[in-house]
Amino acid sequence: MSTIAAVSTPNAPGGIAVIRISGEGAIETAEKIFRPFNVKSVSEMPGYTCAYGIAHDDDERIDDCILTIFRSPHSFTGEDVAEISCHGGLYVSRKILRAALKNGAENAEAGEFTKRAFLNGKIDLTQAEAVMDIISAKSEAELNNAEFLREGAIFRTAEKCSGRLLYLLSGIAAWTDYPDEDIPEVEPDNLREELYEIRSELYSLIRNYDSGRIIREGISAAIVGRPNVGKSTLFNCLSGFERSIVTDIAGTTRDAVEETVRLGDIVLRLTDTAGIHETEDIIEGKGIDIAEKIAQNSELIIAVFDGNCPLTEDDFDLINKFKNKNSIAVINKTDLEQTIDSEYINNNFIQTVYLSAKDNSGSDELKAAIEKIFNISPDFFASATASNERQRSCISRAVQNIDSAISALDNGEFLDAVNVVLDEAEQNLLELTGKKITESVVDEVFSHFCVGK
Ligand code: GDP
Repeated sequence: MSTIAAVSTPNAPGGIAVIRISGEGAIETAEKIFRPFNVKSVSEMPGYTCAYGIAHDDDERIDDCILTIFRSPHSFTGEDVAEISCHGGLYVSRKILRAALKNGAENAEAGEFTKRAFLNGKIDLTQAEAVMDIISAKSEAELNNAEFLREGAIFRTAEKCSGRLLYLLSGIAAWTDYPDEDIPEVEPDNLREELYEIRSELYSLIRNYDSGRIIREGISAAIVGRPNVGKSTLFNCLSGFERSIVTDIAGTTRDAVEETVRLGDIVLRLTDTAGIHETEDIIEGKGIDIAEKIAQNSELIIAVFDGNCPLTEDDFDLINKFKNKNSIAVINKTDLEQTIDSEYINNNFIQTVYLSAKDNSGSDELKAAIEKIFNISPDFFASATASNERQRSCISRAVQNIDSAISALDNGEFLDAVNVVLDEAEQNLLELTGKKITESVVDEVFSHFCVGK
Protein backbone atom coordinates (compact mmCIF):
# COMPACT_ATOMS: atom_id res chain seq x y z
CA MET A 1 0.00 0.00 0.00
CA SER A 2 1.06 3.58 -0.64
CA THR A 3 2.62 5.75 2.05
CA ILE A 4 0.17 8.17 3.64
CA ALA A 5 0.63 11.17 5.93
CA ALA A 6 -1.57 13.51 7.92
CA VAL A 7 -1.52 15.77 10.94
CA SER A 8 -3.16 13.56 13.58
CA THR A 9 -3.71 16.24 16.22
CA PRO A 10 -6.67 18.68 16.12
CA ASN A 11 -6.77 21.56 13.69
CA ALA A 12 -5.96 24.06 16.43
CA PRO A 13 -2.87 25.38 18.18
CA GLY A 14 -1.68 23.24 21.11
CA GLY A 15 1.32 22.08 23.10
CA ILE A 16 2.32 19.41 20.61
CA ALA A 17 1.24 18.43 17.10
CA VAL A 18 1.84 14.99 15.62
CA ILE A 19 2.42 14.25 11.94
CA ARG A 20 1.80 10.58 11.26
CA ILE A 21 3.29 8.74 8.28
CA SER A 22 2.37 5.11 7.50
CA GLY A 23 3.22 2.68 4.71
CA GLU A 24 6.09 0.89 3.05
CA GLY A 25 7.97 4.13 2.48
CA ALA A 26 7.23 5.75 5.87
CA ILE A 27 10.77 5.37 7.26
CA GLU A 28 12.32 6.52 3.99
CA THR A 29 10.10 9.63 3.97
CA ALA A 30 10.96 10.33 7.61
CA GLU A 31 14.67 9.92 6.82
CA LYS A 32 14.40 12.60 4.14
CA ILE A 33 12.72 15.20 6.36
CA PHE A 34 14.22 14.50 9.80
CA ARG A 35 17.83 14.86 10.93
CA PRO A 36 18.40 13.07 14.28
CA PHE A 37 20.91 14.32 16.88
CA ASN A 38 21.36 11.22 18.99
CA VAL A 39 21.27 8.36 16.46
CA LYS A 40 23.21 7.79 13.27
CA SER A 41 20.32 7.50 10.87
CA VAL A 42 16.55 7.17 10.90
CA SER A 43 16.65 4.02 8.76
CA GLU A 44 18.64 2.22 11.46
CA MET A 45 16.24 3.09 14.26
CA PRO A 46 14.53 -0.02 15.68
CA GLY A 47 10.78 -0.06 16.30
CA TYR A 48 9.43 1.59 19.47
CA THR A 49 12.36 4.03 19.65
CA CYS A 50 12.50 7.82 19.54
CA ALA A 51 15.05 10.31 18.33
CA TYR A 52 15.43 14.00 19.02
CA GLY A 53 16.28 16.10 15.97
CA ILE A 54 15.27 18.64 13.39
CA ALA A 55 12.47 18.43 10.85
CA HIS A 56 13.48 20.11 7.61
CA ASP A 57 12.36 20.70 4.06
CA ASP A 58 15.51 20.30 1.95
CA ASP A 59 17.85 22.92 3.43
CA GLU A 60 15.17 24.79 5.32
CA ARG A 61 15.07 23.99 9.03
CA ILE A 62 11.45 23.72 10.24
CA ASP A 63 11.35 22.78 13.94
CA ASP A 64 12.94 20.78 16.79
CA CYS A 65 11.01 17.54 16.95
CA ILE A 66 10.82 14.02 18.36
CA LEU A 67 10.55 11.18 15.87
CA THR A 68 9.04 7.87 16.99
CA ILE A 69 9.47 4.79 14.83
CA PHE A 70 7.17 1.75 14.76
CA ARG A 71 8.23 -1.20 12.62
CA SER A 72 5.72 -3.38 10.76
CA PRO A 73 3.77 -5.35 11.95
CA HIS A 74 4.10 -3.84 15.45
CA SER A 75 2.30 -0.58 14.80
CA PHE A 76 -1.29 0.67 14.88
CA THR A 77 -1.70 0.23 11.12
CA GLY A 78 0.45 -2.89 10.94
CA GLU A 79 2.77 -1.00 8.56
CA ASP A 80 5.99 0.93 9.15
CA VAL A 81 4.97 4.13 10.90
CA ALA A 82 6.88 7.32 11.67
CA GLU A 83 5.39 9.92 13.97
CA ILE A 84 6.90 13.36 14.22
CA SER A 85 5.95 15.39 17.30
CA CYS A 86 6.60 19.09 16.78
CA HIS A 87 5.54 22.29 18.54
CA GLY A 88 1.77 22.48 18.31
CA GLY A 89 1.36 25.36 15.89
CA LEU A 90 -0.91 24.97 12.87
CA TYR A 91 1.61 26.46 10.47
CA VAL A 92 4.60 24.47 11.65
CA SER A 93 2.75 21.14 11.61
CA ARG A 94 1.35 21.80 8.12
CA LYS A 95 4.88 22.69 6.94
CA ILE A 96 6.25 19.35 8.14
CA LEU A 97 3.30 17.58 6.51
CA ARG A 98 4.06 19.37 3.23
CA ALA A 99 7.68 18.23 3.48
CA ALA A 100 6.48 14.62 3.95
CA LEU A 101 4.16 14.94 0.95
CA LYS A 102 7.06 16.26 -1.15
CA ASN A 103 9.14 13.24 -0.12
CA GLY A 104 7.04 10.25 -1.05
CA ALA A 105 3.89 10.39 1.06
CA GLU A 106 0.30 11.03 -0.06
CA ASN A 107 -2.40 12.85 1.86
CA ALA A 108 -4.27 10.37 4.08
CA GLU A 109 -8.04 10.21 3.71
CA ALA A 110 -10.44 10.43 6.66
CA GLY A 111 -9.90 7.42 8.91
CA GLU A 112 -7.32 5.90 6.57
CA PHE A 113 -4.87 4.90 9.32
CA THR A 114 -7.59 2.97 11.15
CA LYS A 115 -8.87 1.57 7.85
CA ARG A 116 -5.39 0.21 7.17
CA ALA A 117 -5.27 -1.30 10.67
CA PHE A 118 -8.50 -3.09 9.74
CA LEU A 119 -7.39 -4.11 6.25
CA ASN A 120 -4.07 -5.37 7.63
CA GLY A 121 -5.90 -7.54 10.17
CA LYS A 122 -4.71 -5.64 13.26
CA ILE A 123 -8.29 -5.02 14.41
CA ASP A 124 -11.75 -6.13 13.31
CA LEU A 125 -14.45 -3.73 12.14
CA THR A 126 -16.09 -3.39 15.58
CA GLN A 127 -12.73 -2.43 17.09
CA ALA A 128 -12.18 0.11 14.31
CA GLU A 129 -15.59 1.59 15.04
CA ALA A 130 -14.69 1.67 18.74
CA VAL A 131 -11.74 3.97 17.95
CA MET A 132 -14.26 6.51 16.68
CA ASP A 133 -16.52 5.83 19.69
CA ILE A 134 -13.61 6.67 22.02
CA ILE A 135 -12.97 9.93 20.19
CA SER A 136 -16.62 10.96 20.31
CA ALA A 137 -17.45 9.65 23.82
CA LYS A 138 -19.20 12.32 25.88
CA SER A 139 -19.72 10.39 29.11
CA GLU A 140 -18.09 7.82 31.37
CA ALA A 141 -20.61 5.17 30.28
CA GLU A 142 -19.94 5.78 26.59
CA LEU A 143 -16.19 5.73 27.11
CA ASN A 144 -16.37 2.48 29.13
CA ASN A 145 -18.36 0.78 26.41
CA ALA A 146 -16.07 2.10 23.68
CA GLU A 147 -13.06 0.72 25.59
CA PHE A 148 -14.79 -2.68 25.93
CA LEU A 149 -15.34 -2.75 22.19
CA ARG A 150 -11.82 -1.56 21.36
CA GLU A 151 -10.43 -4.37 23.49
CA GLY A 152 -12.49 -6.72 21.30
CA ALA A 153 -15.50 -7.59 23.46
CA ILE A 154 -17.91 -7.81 20.51
CA PHE A 155 -15.26 -9.32 18.26
CA ARG A 156 -14.49 -12.12 20.73
CA THR A 157 -18.15 -12.97 21.30
CA ALA A 158 -18.82 -12.93 17.54
CA GLU A 159 -15.80 -15.16 16.88
CA LYS A 160 -16.78 -17.59 19.61
CA CYS A 161 -20.39 -17.82 18.42
CA SER A 162 -19.29 -18.04 14.82
CA GLY A 163 -16.98 -20.98 15.70
CA ARG A 164 -19.81 -22.75 17.51
CA LEU A 165 -22.16 -22.22 14.56
CA LEU A 166 -19.54 -23.56 12.14
CA TYR A 167 -19.15 -26.64 14.30
CA LEU A 168 -22.92 -27.21 14.16
CA LEU A 169 -22.97 -26.57 10.43
CA SER A 170 -20.20 -29.11 9.89
CA GLY A 171 -22.20 -31.60 11.99
CA ILE A 172 -25.25 -31.00 9.79
CA ALA A 173 -23.11 -31.42 6.66
CA ALA A 174 -21.77 -34.72 8.01
CA TRP A 175 -25.32 -35.85 8.77
CA THR A 176 -26.38 -34.95 5.19
CA ASP A 177 -23.56 -37.07 3.77
CA TYR A 178 -24.00 -39.97 6.21
CA PRO A 179 -27.62 -39.85 7.39
CA ASP A 180 -27.34 -43.25 9.07
CA GLU A 181 -24.39 -42.27 11.24
CA ASP A 182 -24.94 -41.26 14.86
CA ILE A 183 -23.89 -37.57 15.12
CA PRO A 184 -24.67 -36.30 18.65
CA GLU A 185 -24.26 -32.58 17.77
CA VAL A 186 -27.26 -32.71 15.45
CA GLU A 187 -29.58 -34.53 17.85
CA PRO A 188 -32.48 -32.00 18.09
CA ASP A 189 -32.19 -31.60 21.89
CA ASN A 190 -28.41 -31.04 21.80
CA LEU A 191 -28.73 -28.73 18.85
CA ARG A 192 -31.51 -26.72 20.51
CA GLU A 193 -29.55 -26.35 23.77
CA GLU A 194 -26.46 -25.18 21.93
CA LEU A 195 -28.47 -22.70 19.86
CA TYR A 196 -30.12 -21.25 22.96
CA GLU A 197 -26.70 -20.62 24.47
CA ILE A 198 -25.33 -18.96 21.33
CA ARG A 199 -28.49 -16.86 21.03
CA SER A 200 -28.21 -15.68 24.62
CA GLU A 201 -24.55 -14.67 24.19
CA LEU A 202 -25.36 -12.66 21.09
CA TYR A 203 -28.50 -11.12 22.51
CA SER A 204 -26.54 -9.81 25.51
CA LEU A 205 -24.72 -7.52 23.04
CA ILE A 206 -27.92 -5.76 21.93
CA ARG A 207 -30.13 -6.02 25.03
CA ASN A 208 -29.15 -2.52 26.17
CA TYR A 209 -28.82 -1.01 22.72
CA ASP A 210 -31.86 1.26 22.88
CA SER A 211 -30.98 2.68 26.28
CA GLY A 212 -27.39 3.02 25.03
CA ARG A 213 -28.65 5.05 22.10
CA ILE A 214 -30.28 7.37 24.61
CA ILE A 215 -26.96 7.80 26.40
CA ARG A 216 -25.15 8.42 23.11
CA GLU A 217 -27.63 10.68 21.36
CA GLY A 218 -29.43 12.25 24.30
CA ILE A 219 -33.13 12.55 24.96
CA SER A 220 -35.22 15.25 23.34
CA ALA A 221 -37.17 16.77 26.22
CA ALA A 222 -39.70 19.61 26.38
CA ILE A 223 -40.54 21.61 29.47
CA VAL A 224 -44.25 22.42 29.38
CA GLY A 225 -46.68 24.06 31.78
CA ARG A 226 -48.97 27.03 32.09
CA PRO A 227 -47.35 30.47 32.44
CA ASN A 228 -45.50 31.37 35.65
CA VAL A 229 -45.11 27.87 37.09
CA GLY A 230 -41.32 28.24 36.78
CA LYS A 231 -40.52 26.55 33.44
CA SER A 232 -37.83 29.06 32.45
CA THR A 233 -36.34 29.04 35.95
CA LEU A 234 -36.10 25.24 35.78
CA PHE A 235 -34.65 25.40 32.27
CA ASN A 236 -32.02 27.90 33.41
CA CYS A 237 -31.27 25.90 36.53
CA LEU A 238 -30.67 22.74 34.47
CA SER A 239 -28.67 24.46 31.75
CA GLY A 240 -26.61 26.29 34.30
CA PHE A 241 -27.00 29.81 33.00
CA GLU A 242 -29.68 32.38 32.19
CA ARG A 243 -30.88 31.63 28.68
CA SER A 244 -34.63 31.93 29.17
CA ILE A 245 -36.19 35.15 30.36
CA VAL A 246 -37.58 34.74 33.86
CA THR A 247 -40.22 37.22 34.99
CA ASP A 248 -43.44 37.03 36.92
CA ILE A 249 -45.26 38.45 33.90
CA ALA A 250 -47.19 35.58 32.29
CA GLY A 251 -46.34 34.75 28.67
CA THR A 252 -42.73 35.95 28.53
CA THR A 253 -41.30 32.87 26.74
CA ARG A 254 -43.12 33.16 23.44
CA ASP A 255 -40.74 31.17 21.33
CA ALA A 256 -38.99 27.90 22.14
CA VAL A 257 -35.46 28.07 23.63
CA GLU A 258 -33.14 25.06 23.27
CA GLU A 259 -30.10 23.87 25.19
CA THR A 260 -28.16 20.62 25.57
CA VAL A 261 -28.10 19.75 29.24
CA ARG A 262 -26.17 17.02 31.04
CA LEU A 263 -27.57 15.30 34.13
CA GLY A 264 -24.85 12.82 35.13
CA ASP A 265 -24.60 10.41 32.20
CA ILE A 266 -27.89 11.58 30.71
CA VAL A 267 -27.87 14.21 27.99
CA LEU A 268 -31.10 16.13 27.51
CA ARG A 269 -31.76 18.11 24.37
CA LEU A 270 -33.98 20.40 26.35
CA THR A 271 -36.53 22.92 25.04
CA ASP A 272 -38.23 25.58 27.15
CA THR A 273 -41.61 26.33 25.61
CA ALA A 274 -44.23 29.04 25.84
CA GLY A 275 -46.71 28.63 28.69
CA ILE A 276 -49.63 26.55 27.43
CA HIS A 277 -52.96 28.18 28.31
CA GLU A 278 -56.07 29.76 26.79
CA THR A 279 -55.18 33.14 25.27
CA GLU A 280 -56.61 35.80 22.93
CA ASP A 281 -53.13 37.12 22.10
CA ILE A 282 -52.31 36.01 18.49
CA ILE A 283 -48.51 35.98 18.89
CA GLU A 284 -48.68 34.19 22.20
CA GLY A 285 -51.17 31.76 20.64
CA LYS A 286 -48.61 30.96 17.91
CA GLY A 287 -45.97 30.29 20.59
CA ILE A 288 -48.39 27.93 22.33
CA ASP A 289 -49.04 26.03 19.06
CA ILE A 290 -45.27 25.63 18.61
CA ALA A 291 -44.94 24.49 22.25
CA GLU A 292 -47.58 21.81 21.75
CA LYS A 293 -45.93 20.57 18.55
CA ILE A 294 -42.50 20.39 20.19
CA ALA A 295 -43.97 18.54 23.16
CA GLN A 296 -45.73 16.02 20.92
CA ASN A 297 -42.46 15.32 19.07
CA SER A 298 -40.28 15.04 22.18
CA GLU A 299 -39.19 11.74 23.71
CA LEU A 300 -39.75 13.17 27.19
CA ILE A 301 -42.15 15.76 28.54
CA ILE A 302 -41.37 17.58 31.77
CA ALA A 303 -44.73 18.99 32.89
CA VAL A 304 -44.21 21.74 35.47
CA PHE A 305 -46.77 22.76 38.10
CA ASP A 306 -46.72 25.49 40.74
CA GLY A 307 -46.79 23.80 44.17
CA ASN A 308 -47.74 27.10 45.78
CA CYS A 309 -51.04 27.28 43.89
CA PRO A 310 -54.11 25.02 43.54
CA LEU A 311 -54.47 23.35 40.14
CA THR A 312 -56.11 25.59 37.53
CA GLU A 313 -58.21 24.78 34.44
CA ASP A 314 -55.05 25.21 32.32
CA ASP A 315 -53.24 22.69 34.56
CA PHE A 316 -56.05 20.15 34.17
CA ASP A 317 -56.02 20.59 30.36
CA LEU A 318 -52.27 20.06 30.37
CA ILE A 319 -52.52 16.93 32.54
CA ASN A 320 -55.10 15.47 30.14
CA LYS A 321 -52.89 16.26 27.15
CA PHE A 322 -49.67 14.76 28.49
CA LYS A 323 -50.53 12.15 31.11
CA ASN A 324 -50.31 9.21 28.70
CA LYS A 325 -47.00 10.31 27.18
CA ASN A 326 -43.48 9.66 28.42
CA SER A 327 -43.85 12.41 30.96
CA ILE A 328 -42.60 13.44 34.37
CA ALA A 329 -44.56 15.86 36.57
CA VAL A 330 -42.44 18.47 38.32
CA ILE A 331 -44.07 20.18 41.29
CA ASN A 332 -42.04 23.36 41.55
CA LYS A 333 -41.65 26.03 44.25
CA THR A 334 -41.32 23.62 47.18
CA ASP A 335 -39.64 26.49 49.06
CA LEU A 336 -43.10 28.07 49.38
CA GLU A 337 -46.22 26.81 51.16
CA GLN A 338 -47.67 23.82 49.24
CA THR A 339 -51.33 24.21 48.28
CA ILE A 340 -51.36 22.08 45.12
CA ASP A 341 -53.38 18.82 44.94
CA SER A 342 -50.26 16.67 44.57
CA GLU A 343 -52.23 13.44 44.89
CA TYR A 344 -54.11 14.24 41.70
CA ILE A 345 -50.78 14.80 39.93
CA ASN A 346 -49.31 11.60 41.38
CA ASN A 347 -52.27 9.63 40.12
CA ASN A 348 -51.85 10.93 36.60
CA PHE A 349 -48.08 10.70 36.05
CA ILE A 350 -45.72 7.72 36.34
CA GLN A 351 -43.12 9.90 38.04
CA THR A 352 -43.49 13.06 40.13
CA VAL A 353 -40.52 15.13 41.24
CA TYR A 354 -40.70 17.86 43.89
CA LEU A 355 -38.22 20.69 43.61
CA SER A 356 -37.48 24.35 43.90
CA ALA A 357 -36.00 25.59 40.64
CA LYS A 358 -35.26 28.91 42.31
CA ASP A 359 -33.08 27.18 44.94
CA ASN A 360 -31.45 24.95 42.32
CA SER A 361 -32.64 21.84 44.14
CA GLY A 362 -34.06 18.56 42.81
CA SER A 363 -31.93 17.90 39.73
CA ASP A 364 -30.77 14.55 41.25
CA GLU A 365 -34.40 13.52 41.76
CA LEU A 366 -35.22 14.57 38.19
CA LYS A 367 -32.29 12.51 36.91
CA ALA A 368 -33.47 9.46 38.89
CA ALA A 369 -36.98 9.83 37.45
CA ILE A 370 -35.61 10.01 33.89
CA GLU A 371 -33.45 6.92 34.53
CA LYS A 372 -36.54 5.05 35.69
CA ILE A 373 -38.61 6.07 32.67
CA PHE A 374 -35.88 5.11 30.20
CA ASN A 375 -34.68 2.02 32.09
CA ILE A 376 -31.16 3.32 32.54
CA SER A 377 -29.43 1.45 35.35
CA PRO A 378 -26.11 2.49 36.90
CA ASP A 379 -24.40 -0.73 35.78
CA PHE A 380 -25.79 -0.13 32.38
CA PHE A 381 -22.59 -0.55 30.42
CA ALA A 382 -21.10 -3.13 32.78
CA SER A 383 -21.01 -5.43 29.75
CA ALA A 384 -20.31 -4.67 26.11
CA THR A 385 -23.16 -3.29 24.03
CA ALA A 386 -23.36 -2.73 20.27
CA SER A 387 -22.55 0.90 19.66
CA ASN A 388 -24.09 1.64 16.30
CA GLU A 389 -26.92 0.64 13.99
CA ARG A 390 -24.66 -1.47 11.74
CA GLN A 391 -23.51 -3.63 14.64
CA ARG A 392 -27.02 -3.86 16.09
CA SER A 393 -28.49 -4.90 12.77
CA CYS A 394 -25.90 -7.68 12.17
CA ILE A 395 -26.35 -9.09 15.68
CA SER A 396 -30.12 -8.82 15.59
CA ARG A 397 -30.30 -10.62 12.22
CA ALA A 398 -28.06 -13.38 13.58
CA VAL A 399 -30.36 -13.73 16.62
CA GLN A 400 -33.44 -13.86 14.36
CA ASN A 401 -31.86 -16.54 12.19
CA ILE A 402 -31.02 -18.62 15.26
CA ASP A 403 -34.63 -18.16 16.44
CA SER A 404 -35.80 -19.46 13.05
CA ALA A 405 -33.50 -22.47 13.42
CA ILE A 406 -34.95 -23.20 16.88
CA SER A 407 -38.52 -22.89 15.50
CA ALA A 408 -37.62 -25.23 12.64
CA LEU A 409 -36.37 -27.79 15.18
CA ASP A 410 -39.49 -27.32 17.31
CA ASN A 411 -41.68 -27.90 14.25
CA GLY A 412 -39.78 -31.09 13.43
CA GLU A 413 -38.53 -29.69 10.09
CA PHE A 414 -35.62 -31.27 8.23
CA LEU A 415 -32.11 -30.27 9.21
CA ASP A 416 -31.71 -28.76 5.73
CA ALA A 417 -34.01 -25.92 6.82
CA VAL A 418 -31.97 -25.44 10.00
CA ASN A 419 -28.81 -25.48 7.93
CA VAL A 420 -29.99 -22.61 5.70
CA VAL A 421 -30.80 -20.21 8.54
CA LEU A 422 -27.71 -21.10 10.57
CA ASP A 423 -25.60 -20.42 7.54
CA GLU A 424 -27.29 -16.99 7.32
CA ALA A 425 -26.52 -16.36 11.01
CA GLU A 426 -22.88 -17.23 10.33
CA GLN A 427 -22.83 -14.71 7.46
CA ASN A 428 -24.33 -12.05 9.75
CA LEU A 429 -21.45 -12.54 12.19
CA LEU A 430 -18.84 -12.37 9.44
CA GLU A 431 -20.43 -9.10 8.36
CA LEU A 432 -20.33 -7.84 11.96
CA THR A 433 -16.59 -8.33 12.34
CA GLY A 434 -15.94 -7.18 8.77
CA LYS A 435 -14.52 -10.52 7.59
CA LYS A 436 -17.04 -10.63 4.80
CA ILE A 437 -18.18 -7.22 3.84
CA THR A 438 -18.57 -5.04 0.75
CA GLU A 439 -16.14 -2.26 0.03
CA SER A 440 -18.95 0.31 0.16
CA VAL A 441 -19.81 -0.67 3.76
CA VAL A 442 -16.13 -0.35 4.73
CA ASP A 443 -15.99 3.06 3.04
CA GLU A 444 -19.18 4.12 4.81
CA VAL A 445 -17.78 3.09 8.23
CA PHE A 446 -14.53 5.02 7.76
CA SER A 447 -16.16 8.08 6.21
CA HIS A 448 -17.25 9.06 9.73
CA PHE A 449 -13.65 9.28 10.94
CA CYS A 450 -11.48 12.35 11.01
CA VAL A 451 -8.34 12.82 8.93
CA GLY A 452 -5.25 11.61 10.79
CA LYS A 453 -7.10 8.88 12.71
P1 GDP B 1 -42.53 30.32 33.42
O1 GDP B 1 -43.46 31.36 32.90
O2 GDP B 1 -43.23 29.05 33.70
O3 GDP B 1 -41.32 30.13 32.54
O4 GDP B 1 -42.04 30.86 34.84
P2 GDP B 1 -40.71 31.62 35.25
O5 GDP B 1 -39.56 30.70 35.28
O6 GDP B 1 -40.59 32.85 34.42
O7 GDP B 1 -41.03 31.97 36.76
C1 GDP B 1 -42.17 32.71 37.11
C2 GDP B 1 -41.94 33.30 38.50
O8 GDP B 1 -41.85 32.26 39.46
C3 GDP B 1 -40.65 34.11 38.59
O9 GDP B 1 -40.88 35.24 39.41
C4 GDP B 1 -39.70 33.14 39.26
O10 GDP B 1 -38.68 33.79 39.99
C5 GDP B 1 -40.64 32.38 40.17
N1 GDP B 1 -40.14 31.05 40.50
C6 GDP B 1 -39.74 30.09 39.63
N2 GDP B 1 -39.34 28.98 40.30
C7 GDP B 1 -39.50 29.24 41.61
C8 GDP B 1 -39.26 28.47 42.79
O11 GDP B 1 -38.79 27.32 42.80
N3 GDP B 1 -39.57 29.09 43.98
C9 GDP B 1 -40.07 30.35 44.03
N4 GDP B 1 -40.32 30.85 45.23
N5 GDP B 1 -40.29 31.08 42.94
C10 GDP B 1 -40.02 30.55 41.73
